[in-house]
Amino acid sequence: MNYCVLGNRAGAAPYNNRHPAAVALIAPGEVLLFDCGEGSVLQLQRASIRRGAVSAVFITHRHADHCLGLLGLVAAFSSDRRSDPLTVVAPPEVNIWLRDSLTTLGVSVEFELKCIDCPSVGAAASPVEVFCSGDMRVFAAPVDHRVPAFAFRCSMASQPRIDIEALEARGVEEGVQVGRLRREGRLTLADGSDIFLEDFLLAPHPPTVFAYSGDTAPCEALAEIARDADVFVCEATFTAKYAERAAHTRHMTAAAAAEIAERAGVKQLVLTHFSTRYRDGMQHLAEARRRIPHVTAAVELEILPLKP
Ligand SMILES: [Zn+2]
Ligand SMILES: [Zn+2]
Repeated sequence: MNYCVLGNRAGAAPYNNRHPAAVALIAPGEVLLFDCGEGSVLQLQRASIRRGAVSAVFITHRHADHCLGLLGLVAAFSSDRRSDPLTVVAPPEVNIWLRDSLTTLGVSVEFELKCIDCPSVGAAASPVEVFCSGDMRVFAAPVDHRVPAFAFRCSMASQPRIDIEALEARGVEEGVQVGRLRREGRLTLADGSDIFLEDFLLAPHPPTVFAYSGDTAPCEALAEIARDADVFVCEATFTAKYAERAAHTRHMTAAAAAEIAERAGVKQLVLTHFSTRYRDGMQHLAEARRRIPHVTAAVELEILPLKP
C-alpha cells in the first residue's frame, strides 16, 4: 500500500506547479482519492497513477480547493468510456453540485456513478463507515470548519498468516503443499491423516490505517479519525505566526497538527495544505518537529509506502 500527495497547496487554483488538495491511496487493484482539487487529473498522470484504477473519491467539504477537480475527473472518465462503477463520498451539497453540473454540461455518464452523502453534521461525532471494498473500510467523521466538513479514515485488514514452522514440523513442505492447504482448507498427509488450515493460522497483523483531515480546526473527532494511524495526512495551513488567523478561519497550525498526531498515537504525520503565503512547508515542518520527530512536509507526486 502506497500513498501520493497530488496537491499540497491551499487555494483553489494550481500555481507555479503547485496544486490544490488531493491524495491518492494506492491499494492492490484500486486507487482511492481523498479530495480532488483542480489539476488532479493531470497530477495523477504525472504520478503515473492510472486514473481508470480510481474506484472511489472522498471529498471533505465544498470549498473549491478540495472539490473543483471532481467534475473534470468524471468528465475524463466519460471520455475514457469507463465501464467500472465509481463511488463518490461527499457532503450532500457536493454531490448535488456534481450531478447538476454534469447535467448542465451534458456529460454523458455511462458507468454507474454512486454518490453517497456523508452522515449529517450534528450526528454522533464518532466515525461512521461510508465505503467498503475487499479488505478496505473507510470511515467519516464531521470536523470543525467554516462549512460542513469531514475527515476520513481508511483501515485495511491484513490476511491471517499461516504458521509455516508448525506445518514443517508436521512434514508439510512449503510450496505446493502449503498452497493446496491454503486453497482447499485441508490436506491429506503421506500417513493418511488430514490436517486443517484453521489449526495453523496465526493472528493477522493489525490493520494498516491511513487518515486524512481535509480542512478543520483542532477537534476531538480528528484525533479519533487519526487514532493509531500508520500515516496521517493532515492540513497545516499556517505557522504559529498566524495562529489567530488559523482559529478565525477554522484551520490548523503545524504545531496543532503535531499535538493531535501525538495524542492520537500516529506513527507518521504528513503536513499538507500550506497557505498560499508560503513557498513550501519547511517552516511548518520545523514547528511540528519541535513537538514530534516522525513528521514530514508533503512533497507533491512522491509515492511513499504506508508502512516502511
Ligand atoms: Zn482548503
Ligand atoms: Zn475549507
